[in-house]
Amino acid sequence: MLGAWVNDAMKKLTVDSICAAYADKGVKVVVKPLPNAPKVILFEGDELAFEFLGKLFLAHAKAINGCGFQIGPKHAGNKSFSTKAALGIYLHRLPCDNDAPRGYQPSYKKKKSGTQN
Ligand SMILES: [Zn+2]
Repeated sequence: MLGAWVNDAMKKLTVDSICAAYADKGVKVVVKPLPNAPKVILFEGDELAFEFLGKLFLAHAKAINGCGFQIGPKHAGNKSFSTKAALGIYLHRLPCDNDAPRGYQPSYKKKKSGTQN
């Protein structure tokens, strides 16, 4: 059902496992509007925090359990968010699982199907 490119290693690298691993390390992320520019979102944290965010985004790129993932001070995974955090974050990977037609394939496969250059 899933492409062969989803190997065992990537299956283990889930957003949930990343959150659990970094919560154990005591990671704290602050997400809030930048005080002097409220339309800018501030991500604040130490080295571990950005390592966590980077791996979280990478894991979501390959997430096999849905197009959306929410984390924040009032949601699951809240151990990773500082109590100072005013905002949570929502990652939405396109195409949306709800919009994708059955049998969706990456565009590079669609281009090749049926034609030969
Ligand atoms: Zn979606």
